[in-house]
Amino acid sequence: MRCPLRATSERRVLCVFPAYTPSFGTFSHAYRLMGRVRAFMPPQGLLLIAAYLPAAWPVRFIDENVARAKAADFAWADVVMISGMHIQAPQIRDIAARAKAAGKITVLGGASVSGSPELYPDFDYLHIGEIGDGTDRLIACLDDSVAPPAAQRRFETDERLPLCDFPLPAYDLIRLDRYLIGSLQFSSGCPYRCEFCDIPALYGRQPRLKTPEQITAELDAMLAQPSHPPVVYFVDDNFIGNRKATREMLPHLIAWQRKHGYPLQFACEATLNLAKQSEILALMREAQFLTVFVGIETPDAEALKAMRKEHNAALPMMQAIGTLNSYGLEVTAGIILGLDNDTADSEARLKEFIDLSQIPILTINLLQALPRTPLWDRLQRAGRLIADDAGLESNVRFLRPYDEVVAMWQRCIAYAYDPEHLYARFDHQVDATYVNRMIGPVRGKLTINNLRSALVLAFNVAFRVGLLADYRGPFWRAARHALRRGQIDAVFGMGFVGYHLIEFSREALRGGHNASFYSTRQREDAPAPAREALPPQRKSA
Ligand code: SF4
Repeated sequence: MRCPLRATSERRVLCVFPAYTPSFGTFSHAYRLMGRVRAFMPPQGLLLIAAYLPAAWPVRFIDENVARAKAADFAWADVVMISGMHIQAPQIRDIAARAKAAGKITVLGGASVSGSPELYPDFDYLHIGEIGDGTDRLIACLDDSVAPPAAQRRFETDERLPLCDFPLPAYDLIRLDRYLIGSLQFSSGCPYRCEFCDIPALYGRQPRLKTPEQITAELDAMLAQPSHPPVVYFVDDNFIGNRKATREMLPHLIAWQRKHGYPLQFACEATLNLAKQSEILALMREAQFLTVFVGIETPDAEALKAMRKEHNAALPMMQAIGTLNSYGLEVTAGIILGLDNDTADSEARLKEFIDLSQIPILTINLLQALPRTPLWDRLQRAGRLIADDAGLESNVRFLRPYDEVVAMWQRCIAYAYDPEHLYARFDHQVDATYVNRMIGPVRGKLTINNLRSALVLAFNVAFRVGLLADYRGPFWRAARHALRRGQIDAVFGMGFVGYHLIEFSREALRGGHNASFYSTRQREDAPAPAREALPPQRKSA
Protein backbone atom coordinates (compact mmCIF):
# COMPACT_ATOMS: atom_id res chain seq x y z
CA MET A 1 0.00 0.00 0.00
CA ARG A 2 0.97 3.64 -0.42
CA CYS A 3 0.89 6.28 2.27
CA PRO A 4 -2.80 6.87 3.18
CA LEU A 5 -2.36 10.66 3.05
CA ARG A 6 -4.21 12.51 0.27
CA ALA A 7 -1.44 14.82 -0.89
CA THR A 8 -2.48 18.38 -1.63
CA SER A 9 0.86 19.46 -3.14
CA GLU A 10 3.23 18.00 -5.68
CA ARG A 11 6.69 17.35 -4.27
CA ARG A 12 9.58 16.19 -6.42
CA VAL A 13 11.56 13.71 -4.33
CA LEU A 14 15.14 12.73 -5.07
CA CYS A 15 16.07 9.49 -3.29
CA VAL A 16 19.84 9.01 -3.05
CA PHE A 17 21.49 5.90 -1.66
CA PRO A 18 25.14 6.41 -0.58
CA ALA A 19 28.07 4.39 -1.89
CA TYR A 20 29.39 1.65 0.36
CA THR A 21 32.95 1.13 1.48
CA PRO A 22 34.49 -1.98 -0.11
CA SER A 23 34.46 -5.35 1.64
CA PHE A 24 35.14 -9.02 1.02
CA GLY A 25 31.43 -9.70 0.85
CA THR A 26 30.33 -7.56 -2.05
CA PHE A 27 32.66 -8.60 -4.87
CA SER A 28 33.36 -5.09 -6.13
CA HIS A 29 36.47 -6.23 -8.03
CA ALA A 30 34.38 -8.75 -9.90
CA TYR A 31 32.21 -6.10 -11.58
CA ARG A 32 34.92 -5.44 -14.12
CA LEU A 33 34.49 -9.03 -15.29
CA MET A 34 30.79 -8.48 -15.93
CA GLY A 35 29.34 -6.31 -18.63
CA ARG A 36 26.78 -4.05 -16.99
CA VAL A 37 27.19 -4.71 -13.28
CA ARG A 38 28.14 -1.67 -11.18
CA ALA A 39 26.90 -2.47 -7.69
CA PHE A 40 26.20 -5.28 -5.26
CA MET A 41 22.45 -5.29 -4.64
CA PRO A 42 19.48 -2.93 -4.81
CA PRO A 43 18.83 -0.94 -1.60
CA GLN A 44 15.55 -2.41 -0.32
CA GLY A 45 14.77 0.20 2.35
CA LEU A 46 14.94 3.30 0.17
CA LEU A 47 13.15 1.53 -2.71
CA LEU A 48 10.38 0.76 -0.24
CA ILE A 49 10.07 4.40 0.87
CA ALA A 50 10.07 5.50 -2.78
CA ALA A 51 7.13 3.18 -3.44
CA TYR A 52 5.26 4.36 -0.33
CA LEU A 53 5.29 8.09 -1.20
CA PRO A 54 2.05 9.62 -2.52
CA ALA A 55 1.36 8.57 -6.12
CA ALA A 56 1.19 12.22 -7.24
CA TRP A 57 4.78 12.90 -6.16
CA PRO A 58 7.39 12.37 -8.90
CA VAL A 59 10.34 10.35 -7.59
CA ARG A 60 13.85 10.07 -8.98
CA PHE A 61 16.06 7.31 -7.56
CA ILE A 62 19.84 7.31 -7.61
CA ASP A 63 22.06 4.66 -6.10
CA GLU A 64 25.53 6.20 -5.88
CA ASN A 65 27.03 2.74 -6.03
CA VAL A 66 25.88 2.78 -9.65
CA ALA A 67 26.19 6.46 -10.60
CA ARG A 68 26.69 9.72 -8.71
CA ALA A 69 23.76 12.13 -8.38
CA LYS A 70 24.30 15.10 -10.68
CA ALA A 71 23.77 18.80 -10.03
CA ALA A 72 20.74 18.61 -12.35
CA ASP A 73 19.18 15.94 -10.10
CA PHE A 74 19.51 18.14 -7.03
CA ALA A 75 18.24 21.16 -8.99
CA TRP A 76 15.14 19.15 -10.06
CA ALA A 77 14.19 18.09 -6.53
CA ASP A 78 12.12 19.75 -3.80
CA VAL A 79 13.29 17.23 -1.21
CA VAL A 80 16.35 14.97 -1.01
CA MET A 81 15.82 11.69 0.88
CA ILE A 82 18.83 9.62 1.95
CA SER A 83 19.08 6.30 3.76
CA GLY A 84 22.08 4.34 4.94
CA MET A 85 23.98 2.35 7.55
CA HIS A 86 26.73 3.41 9.96
CA ILE A 87 29.41 2.32 7.55
CA GLN A 88 28.07 4.84 5.03
CA ALA A 89 28.06 7.81 7.44
CA PRO A 90 30.73 9.86 5.59
CA GLN A 91 28.96 9.33 2.27
CA ILE A 92 25.58 10.18 3.85
CA ARG A 93 26.96 13.52 5.03
CA ASP A 94 28.52 14.19 1.65
CA ILE A 95 25.18 13.78 -0.16
CA ALA A 96 23.50 16.04 2.40
CA ALA A 97 26.16 18.70 1.83
CA ARG A 98 25.55 18.60 -1.94
CA ALA A 99 21.81 18.84 -1.40
CA LYS A 100 22.24 21.79 0.95
CA ALA A 101 24.56 23.51 -1.53
CA ALA A 102 21.74 23.19 -4.06
CA GLY A 103 19.35 24.78 -1.55
CA LYS A 104 17.25 21.65 -0.93
CA ILE A 105 15.83 20.28 2.28
CA THR A 106 17.23 16.96 3.45
CA VAL A 107 15.60 13.92 5.04
CA LEU A 108 17.59 11.03 6.51
CA GLY A 109 16.18 7.59 7.38
CA GLY A 110 17.54 4.06 7.69
CA ALA A 111 19.54 2.00 10.15
CA SER A 112 22.28 4.48 11.04
CA VAL A 113 20.07 7.41 12.00
CA SER A 114 17.64 5.09 13.74
CA GLY A 115 20.47 3.82 15.96
CA SER A 116 22.28 7.14 16.42
CA PRO A 117 20.22 10.23 15.49
CA GLU A 118 22.70 12.46 17.33
CA LEU A 119 25.27 11.78 14.60
CA TYR A 120 23.29 13.80 12.07
CA PRO A 121 22.60 17.32 13.40
CA ASP A 122 22.78 18.94 9.94
CA PHE A 123 19.72 17.27 8.41
CA ASP A 124 16.38 19.10 8.26
CA TYR A 125 14.32 16.00 9.02
CA LEU A 126 15.21 12.66 10.60
CA HIS A 127 13.09 9.56 10.08
CA ILE A 128 13.74 7.22 12.99
CA GLY A 129 12.70 3.59 12.99
CA GLU A 130 10.92 1.60 10.34
CA ILE A 131 8.25 2.64 7.89
CA GLY A 132 5.05 3.41 9.82
CA ASP A 133 3.21 6.25 11.54
CA GLY A 134 6.40 8.34 11.70
CA THR A 135 6.66 8.09 7.91
CA ASP A 136 3.06 9.26 7.52
CA ARG A 137 3.68 12.30 9.73
CA LEU A 138 6.85 13.13 7.79
CA ILE A 139 5.01 12.94 4.46
CA ALA A 140 2.20 15.16 5.81
CA CYS A 141 4.81 17.68 6.94
CA LEU A 142 6.48 17.74 3.51
CA ASP A 143 3.09 18.04 1.84
CA ASP A 144 2.49 21.10 3.96
CA SER A 145 5.81 22.83 3.24
CA VAL A 146 9.26 22.31 1.76
CA ALA A 147 10.72 25.40 3.38
CA PRO A 148 13.67 24.54 5.66
CA PRO A 149 12.45 24.16 9.27
CA ALA A 150 13.83 26.57 11.87
CA ALA A 151 15.31 23.61 13.76
CA GLN A 152 15.77 19.94 12.98
CA ARG A 153 12.56 17.89 13.27
CA ARG A 154 12.41 14.20 14.10
CA PHE A 155 9.69 11.76 13.09
CA GLU A 156 9.85 8.49 14.99
CA THR A 157 7.75 5.45 14.15
CA ASP A 158 5.83 4.03 17.10
CA GLU A 159 3.50 1.87 15.07
CA ARG A 160 5.26 -0.03 12.30
CA LEU A 161 3.55 -0.74 9.03
CA PRO A 162 2.94 -4.52 8.95
CA LEU A 163 5.14 -6.20 6.34
CA CYS A 164 2.04 -7.63 4.70
CA ASP A 165 1.06 -4.01 3.88
CA PHE A 166 4.46 -3.12 2.40
CA PRO A 167 4.21 -1.89 -1.17
CA LEU A 168 6.20 -3.54 -3.92
CA PRO A 169 9.65 -1.86 -3.77
CA ALA A 170 10.04 0.68 -6.57
CA TYR A 171 12.05 -1.62 -8.87
CA ASP A 172 10.64 0.36 -11.78
CA LEU A 173 12.91 3.28 -10.76
CA ILE A 174 16.16 1.31 -11.15
CA ARG A 175 17.82 -0.96 -13.69
CA LEU A 176 18.25 -4.34 -12.06
CA ASP A 177 20.91 -5.43 -14.53
CA ARG A 178 23.30 -2.94 -12.87
CA TYR A 179 23.39 -5.21 -9.81
CA LEU A 180 25.37 -8.36 -9.14
CA ILE A 181 22.46 -9.90 -7.23
CA GLY A 182 18.83 -9.00 -6.64
CA SER A 183 17.40 -8.40 -3.17
CA LEU A 184 14.15 -9.47 -1.57
CA GLN A 185 12.79 -9.25 1.98
CA PHE A 186 10.46 -11.87 3.43
CA SER A 187 10.80 -11.14 7.16
CA SER A 188 12.22 -8.57 9.54
CA GLY A 189 13.60 -9.20 13.03
CA CYS A 190 15.37 -12.04 14.79
CA PRO A 191 14.44 -13.96 17.96
CA TYR A 192 18.04 -14.18 19.26
CA ARG A 193 19.99 -11.64 21.28
CA CYS A 194 23.62 -11.86 20.19
CA GLU A 195 25.58 -9.33 22.19
CA PHE A 196 27.08 -7.42 19.24
CA CYS A 197 23.99 -7.27 17.02
CA ASP A 198 21.61 -4.33 16.69
CA ILE A 199 18.89 -6.23 14.81
CA PRO A 200 16.74 -7.14 17.87
CA ALA A 201 16.72 -3.52 19.09
CA LEU A 202 16.05 -2.03 15.67
CA TYR A 203 13.66 -4.56 14.17
CA GLY A 204 12.34 -6.62 17.08
CA ARG A 205 12.62 -10.22 18.25
CA GLN A 206 9.32 -11.38 16.84
CA PRO A 207 9.92 -11.72 13.09
CA ARG A 208 7.29 -9.94 11.03
CA LEU A 209 6.41 -11.35 7.64
CA LYS A 210 5.31 -10.65 4.12
CA THR A 211 2.84 -12.99 2.48
CA PRO A 212 4.03 -15.55 -0.09
CA GLU A 213 1.95 -13.64 -2.66
CA GLN A 214 4.00 -10.49 -2.01
CA ILE A 215 7.18 -12.48 -2.56
CA THR A 216 6.07 -13.91 -5.89
CA ALA A 217 4.73 -10.49 -7.00
CA GLU A 218 8.19 -9.02 -6.33
CA LEU A 219 9.80 -11.81 -8.32
CA ASP A 220 7.35 -11.12 -11.16
CA ALA A 221 8.42 -7.47 -11.10
CA MET A 222 12.09 -8.47 -11.36
CA LEU A 223 11.37 -10.83 -14.20
CA ALA A 224 9.46 -8.09 -16.03
CA GLN A 225 12.70 -6.12 -16.52
CA PRO A 226 14.56 -6.79 -19.78
CA SER A 227 17.47 -8.15 -17.78
CA HIS A 228 17.91 -9.03 -14.12
CA PRO A 229 20.57 -10.60 -11.89
CA PRO A 230 20.59 -14.41 -11.91
CA VAL A 231 20.60 -14.71 -8.11
CA VAL A 232 18.27 -13.05 -5.60
CA TYR A 233 19.36 -12.59 -1.97
CA PHE A 234 16.82 -12.79 0.84
CA VAL A 235 18.00 -9.91 3.01
CA ASP A 236 16.05 -11.15 6.06
CA ASP A 237 18.01 -10.79 9.28
CA ASN A 238 17.56 -14.51 9.83
CA PHE A 239 15.79 -16.53 7.12
CA ILE A 240 14.60 -19.04 9.74
CA GLY A 241 13.66 -16.46 12.39
CA ASN A 242 10.15 -17.90 12.08
CA ARG A 243 10.63 -21.49 10.87
CA LYS A 244 6.96 -22.23 10.39
CA ALA A 245 6.53 -19.20 8.12
CA THR A 246 9.64 -20.11 6.11
CA ARG A 247 8.38 -23.69 5.72
CA GLU A 248 5.04 -22.41 4.48
CA MET A 249 6.50 -19.82 2.10
CA LEU A 250 9.02 -22.07 0.32
CA PRO A 251 6.46 -24.20 -1.59
CA HIS A 252 5.16 -20.97 -3.16
CA LEU A 253 8.68 -20.12 -4.25
CA ILE A 254 9.09 -23.58 -5.75
CA ALA A 255 5.76 -23.29 -7.58
CA TRP A 256 6.84 -19.91 -8.98
CA GLN A 257 10.14 -21.36 -10.15
CA ARG A 258 8.36 -24.27 -11.88
CA LYS A 259 5.87 -21.97 -13.56
CA HIS A 260 8.61 -19.76 -15.00
CA GLY A 261 11.14 -22.46 -15.88
CA TYR A 262 13.52 -21.80 -12.94
CA PRO A 263 14.78 -18.37 -14.03
CA LEU A 264 16.42 -17.51 -10.67
CA GLN A 265 18.56 -18.92 -7.91
CA PHE A 266 18.56 -17.74 -4.31
CA ALA A 267 20.78 -16.96 -1.33
CA CYS A 268 20.01 -15.93 2.25
CA GLU A 269 21.45 -15.50 5.72
CA ALA A 270 20.46 -17.79 8.56
CA THR A 271 21.63 -19.15 11.88
CA LEU A 272 23.71 -22.33 11.82
CA ASN A 273 20.92 -24.30 13.49
CA LEU A 274 19.32 -24.30 10.02
CA ALA A 275 21.22 -27.59 9.79
CA LYS A 276 18.60 -29.15 12.11
CA GLN A 277 15.73 -28.20 9.78
CA SER A 278 15.79 -31.00 7.23
CA GLU A 279 12.35 -30.19 5.82
CA ILE A 280 13.28 -26.54 5.21
CA LEU A 281 16.62 -27.58 3.73
CA ALA A 282 14.96 -29.96 1.28
CA LEU A 283 12.57 -27.19 0.21
CA MET A 284 15.44 -24.72 -0.15
CA ARG A 285 17.26 -27.17 -2.38
CA GLU A 286 14.19 -27.57 -4.55
CA ALA A 287 13.70 -23.79 -4.75
CA GLN A 288 17.34 -23.54 -5.88
CA PHE A 289 19.05 -21.85 -2.96
CA LEU A 290 22.80 -21.86 -3.62
CA THR A 291 24.42 -20.18 -0.64
CA VAL A 292 23.69 -19.26 2.94
CA PHE A 293 25.58 -16.63 4.91
CA VAL A 294 26.07 -17.79 8.50
CA GLY A 295 27.45 -15.64 11.29
CA ILE A 296 29.81 -18.34 12.57
CA GLU A 297 31.71 -15.58 14.44
CA THR A 298 34.22 -17.93 16.12
CA PRO A 299 34.92 -21.65 16.42
CA ASP A 300 35.43 -21.14 20.20
CA ALA A 301 32.42 -22.47 22.15
CA GLU A 302 33.23 -20.36 25.22
CA ALA A 303 33.35 -17.20 23.13
CA LEU A 304 30.01 -18.11 21.52
CA LYS A 305 28.52 -18.45 24.97
CA ALA A 306 29.94 -15.10 26.05
CA MET A 307 28.39 -13.34 23.06
CA ARG A 308 25.06 -15.19 23.61
CA LYS A 309 25.31 -17.08 20.36
CA GLU A 310 25.11 -20.59 21.80
CA HIS A 311 22.63 -21.51 19.08
CA ASN A 312 25.63 -21.83 16.75
CA ALA A 313 26.71 -24.78 18.84
CA ALA A 314 23.35 -26.60 18.69
CA LEU A 315 25.16 -29.19 16.55
CA PRO A 316 28.91 -29.79 16.23
CA MET A 317 29.97 -27.01 13.87
CA MET A 318 31.62 -29.16 11.18
CA GLN A 319 28.67 -31.52 11.18
CA ALA A 320 26.27 -28.58 10.70
CA ILE A 321 28.31 -27.16 7.82
CA GLY A 322 28.51 -30.61 6.22
CA THR A 323 24.73 -30.96 6.48
CA LEU A 324 24.15 -27.62 4.74
CA ASN A 325 26.62 -28.66 2.03
CA SER A 326 24.76 -31.94 1.56
CA TYR A 327 21.71 -29.92 0.48
CA GLY A 328 23.79 -28.05 -2.09
CA LEU A 329 24.22 -24.96 0.11
CA GLU A 330 27.65 -23.36 0.10
CA VAL A 331 28.24 -21.67 3.45
CA THR A 332 29.67 -18.16 3.62
CA ALA A 333 30.99 -17.40 7.09
CA GLY A 334 31.16 -14.21 9.12
CA ILE A 335 34.11 -14.27 11.54
CA ILE A 336 34.94 -11.80 14.33
CA LEU A 337 38.42 -11.21 15.75
CA GLY A 338 39.24 -9.12 18.80
CA LEU A 339 36.79 -10.90 21.12
CA ASP A 340 37.40 -10.81 24.86
CA ASN A 341 37.91 -14.58 24.80
CA ASP A 342 40.65 -14.43 22.15
CA THR A 343 43.96 -15.90 23.23
CA ALA A 344 47.35 -16.50 21.65
CA ASP A 345 45.82 -19.70 20.20
CA SER A 346 42.89 -18.04 18.44
CA GLU A 347 44.74 -17.52 15.19
CA ALA A 348 45.75 -21.18 14.94
CA ARG A 349 42.21 -22.26 15.77
CA LEU A 350 40.70 -20.02 13.11
CA LYS A 351 43.11 -21.32 10.48
CA GLU A 352 42.25 -24.86 11.51
CA PHE A 353 38.56 -23.99 11.20
CA ILE A 354 39.13 -22.60 7.68
CA ASP A 355 40.90 -25.81 6.65
CA LEU A 356 38.38 -28.17 8.20
CA SER A 357 35.23 -26.35 7.14
CA GLN A 358 36.51 -25.79 3.57
CA ILE A 359 34.38 -22.64 3.42
CA PRO A 360 35.64 -20.56 0.49
CA ILE A 361 34.26 -17.14 1.48
CA LEU A 362 34.84 -15.79 4.98
CA THR A 363 34.27 -12.18 5.95
CA ILE A 364 36.84 -11.75 8.72
CA ASN A 365 36.25 -8.58 10.73
CA LEU A 366 37.52 -6.97 13.88
CA LEU A 367 34.91 -6.55 16.59
CA GLN A 368 33.13 -3.19 16.33
CA ALA A 369 30.55 -2.01 18.86
CA LEU A 370 27.33 -0.78 17.28
CA PRO A 371 24.97 1.57 19.14
CA ARG A 372 21.85 -0.02 20.61
CA THR A 373 23.58 -3.32 21.33
CA PRO A 374 24.32 -5.01 24.68
CA LEU A 375 27.99 -4.97 23.64
CA TRP A 376 27.96 -1.17 23.33
CA ASP A 377 26.39 -0.83 26.78
CA ARG A 378 28.87 -3.22 28.39
CA LEU A 379 31.92 -1.60 26.82
CA GLN A 380 30.66 1.87 27.63
CA ARG A 381 30.25 0.91 31.28
CA ALA A 382 33.79 -0.50 31.23
CA GLY A 383 35.24 2.60 29.53
CA ARG A 384 36.29 0.49 26.55
CA LEU A 385 34.69 2.45 23.71
CA ILE A 386 36.99 4.48 21.48
CA ALA A 387 35.82 7.47 19.43
CA ASP A 388 35.30 6.79 15.72
CA ASP A 389 37.65 9.62 14.83
CA ALA A 390 40.55 8.13 16.80
CA GLY A 391 41.95 6.73 13.56
CA LEU A 392 41.94 3.11 14.77
CA GLU A 393 40.62 0.01 13.04
CA SER A 394 37.82 -0.48 15.58
CA ASN A 395 35.96 1.48 18.24
CA VAL A 396 36.62 -1.29 20.80
CA ARG A 397 39.50 -1.24 23.27
CA PHE A 398 40.53 -4.89 22.95
CA LEU A 399 41.77 -6.90 25.91
CA ARG A 400 44.74 -8.04 23.84
CA PRO A 401 47.22 -5.45 22.50
CA TYR A 402 45.73 -3.54 19.55
CA ASP A 403 48.70 -4.11 17.22
CA GLU A 404 48.59 -7.85 17.90
CA VAL A 405 44.89 -8.03 17.05
CA VAL A 406 45.35 -6.14 13.78
CA ALA A 407 48.39 -8.24 12.88
CA MET A 408 46.39 -11.39 13.56
CA TRP A 409 43.65 -10.13 11.24
CA GLN A 410 46.25 -9.55 8.52
CA ARG A 411 47.73 -13.02 8.90
CA CYS A 412 44.29 -14.63 8.90
CA ILE A 413 43.10 -12.95 5.70
CA ALA A 414 46.47 -13.67 4.07
CA TYR A 415 45.98 -17.33 4.96
CA ALA A 416 42.35 -17.51 3.93
CA TYR A 417 42.90 -15.84 0.57
CA ASP A 418 46.19 -17.31 -0.38
CA PRO A 419 45.23 -18.51 -3.90
CA GLU A 420 46.38 -22.10 -3.30
CA HIS A 421 44.28 -22.33 -0.12
CA LEU A 422 41.26 -20.59 -1.62
CA TYR A 423 41.05 -22.67 -4.79
CA ALA A 424 41.64 -25.87 -2.79
CA ARG A 425 38.50 -24.98 -0.81
CA PHE A 426 36.56 -24.37 -4.02
CA ASP A 427 37.86 -27.69 -5.28
CA HIS A 428 36.40 -29.35 -2.18
CA GLN A 429 33.03 -27.64 -2.75
CA VAL A 430 32.74 -29.26 -6.19
CA ASP A 431 32.27 -32.70 -4.62
CA ALA A 432 30.91 -31.76 -1.20
CA THR A 433 28.33 -29.16 -2.24
CA TYR A 434 27.82 -28.30 -5.91
CA VAL A 435 27.20 -31.92 -6.85
CA ASN A 436 24.27 -31.98 -4.39
CA ARG A 437 22.38 -29.15 -6.05
CA MET A 438 19.21 -29.92 -7.92
CA ILE A 439 19.66 -29.49 -11.63
CA GLY A 440 16.60 -27.56 -12.74
CA PRO A 441 15.47 -26.96 -16.31
CA VAL A 442 17.36 -24.19 -18.09
CA ARG A 443 14.28 -22.94 -19.97
CA GLY A 444 13.78 -19.90 -17.70
CA LYS A 445 17.43 -18.88 -17.97
CA LEU A 446 17.74 -19.07 -21.73
CA THR A 447 17.43 -15.42 -22.66
CA ILE A 448 19.54 -13.37 -25.04
CA ASN A 449 20.64 -11.10 -22.18
CA ASN A 450 21.69 -14.05 -20.00
CA LEU A 451 23.65 -15.59 -22.86
CA ARG A 452 25.37 -12.28 -23.55
CA SER A 453 26.26 -11.85 -19.86
CA ALA A 454 27.59 -15.42 -19.68
CA LEU A 455 29.80 -14.87 -22.72
CA VAL A 456 31.23 -11.62 -21.32
CA LEU A 457 31.93 -13.30 -17.97
CA ALA A 458 33.45 -16.39 -19.60
CA PHE A 459 35.78 -14.28 -21.72
CA ASN A 460 36.88 -12.08 -18.82
CA VAL A 461 37.41 -14.99 -16.40
CA ALA A 462 39.43 -16.87 -19.00
CA PHE A 463 41.46 -13.78 -19.89
CA ARG A 464 42.00 -12.01 -16.56
CA VAL A 465 42.12 -15.04 -14.26
CA GLY A 466 42.92 -17.97 -16.54
CA LEU A 467 45.60 -16.21 -18.56
CA LEU A 468 46.94 -13.10 -16.82
CA ALA A 469 46.61 -13.78 -13.08
CA ASP A 470 49.63 -15.06 -11.14
CA TYR A 471 47.21 -17.55 -9.54
CA ARG A 472 46.01 -19.07 -12.81
CA GLY A 473 47.59 -22.43 -11.83
CA PRO A 474 45.39 -23.10 -8.76
CA PHE A 475 42.39 -21.63 -10.61
CA TRP A 476 42.73 -24.05 -13.52
CA ARG A 477 43.27 -27.02 -11.20
CA ALA A 478 39.93 -26.32 -9.49
CA ALA A 479 38.26 -25.39 -12.79
CA ARG A 480 39.36 -28.64 -14.47
CA HIS A 481 37.96 -30.60 -11.55
CA ALA A 482 34.61 -28.79 -11.87
CA LEU A 483 34.53 -29.19 -15.65
CA ARG A 484 35.17 -32.93 -15.38
CA ARG A 485 31.98 -33.07 -13.28
CA GLY A 486 30.04 -30.92 -15.74
CA GLN A 487 29.86 -27.92 -13.36
CA ILE A 488 30.36 -25.03 -15.76
CA ASP A 489 28.52 -22.58 -13.47
CA ALA A 490 31.00 -23.40 -10.72
CA VAL A 491 33.92 -22.42 -12.96
CA PHE A 492 32.37 -18.97 -13.56
CA GLY A 493 31.63 -18.63 -9.83
CA MET A 494 35.09 -19.59 -8.59
CA GLY A 495 36.55 -17.39 -11.33
CA PHE A 496 34.91 -14.10 -10.41
CA VAL A 497 34.55 -14.75 -6.68
CA GLY A 498 38.18 -15.84 -6.38
CA TYR A 499 39.31 -12.84 -8.41
CA HIS A 500 37.58 -10.43 -6.03
CA LEU A 501 38.71 -12.16 -2.83
CA ILE A 502 42.34 -12.40 -3.87
CA GLU A 503 42.57 -8.86 -5.26
CA PHE A 504 40.70 -7.39 -2.29
CA SER A 505 42.80 -9.21 0.29
CA ARG A 506 45.99 -8.03 -1.41
CA GLU A 507 44.74 -4.44 -1.25
CA ALA A 508 43.77 -4.91 2.39
CA LEU A 509 47.23 -6.26 3.21
CA ARG A 510 48.75 -3.17 1.59
CA GLY A 511 46.66 -1.12 4.05
CA GLY A 512 43.91 -0.17 1.64
CA HIS A 513 40.92 -1.34 3.69
CA ASN A 514 39.74 -1.26 7.28
CA ALA A 515 40.04 -4.41 9.37
CA SER A 516 36.52 -3.75 10.62
CA PHE A 517 34.13 -3.14 7.76
CA TYR A 518 31.73 -1.63 10.27
CA SER A 519 34.22 1.09 11.02
CA THR A 520 33.48 4.49 9.50
CA ARG A 521 37.18 5.36 9.46
CA GLN A 522 38.14 6.99 6.16
CA ARG A 523 41.28 5.55 4.64
CA GLU A 524 43.31 8.15 2.82
CA ASP A 525 45.55 5.39 1.49
CA ALA A 526 42.70 3.39 -0.04
CA PRO A 527 42.89 3.05 -3.80
CA ALA A 528 40.46 5.49 -5.40
CA PRO A 529 38.19 2.96 -7.09
CA ALA A 530 37.82 1.13 -3.80
CA ARG A 531 36.86 4.29 -1.89
CA GLU A 532 34.07 4.83 -4.36
CA ALA A 533 32.83 1.25 -4.33
CA LEU A 534 30.79 -0.56 -1.73
CA PRO A 535 29.60 -3.30 0.74
CA PRO A 536 26.62 -3.64 3.00
CA GLN A 537 26.94 -3.77 6.73
CA ARG A 538 26.63 -7.49 7.13
CA LYS A 539 24.26 -8.09 9.98
CA SER A 540 25.18 -11.72 10.39
CA ALA A 541 22.43 -14.15 11.28
S1 SF4 B 1 23.64 -11.93 14.93
FE1 SF4 B 1 22.13 -13.02 13.68
S2 SF4 B 1 21.24 -14.53 15.12
FE2 SF4 B 1 22.24 -12.99 16.37
S3 SF4 B 1 20.62 -11.48 16.88
FE3 SF4 B 1 21.71 -10.75 15.04
S4 SF4 B 1 20.51 -11.50 13.30
FE4 SF4 B 1 19.92 -12.69 15.11
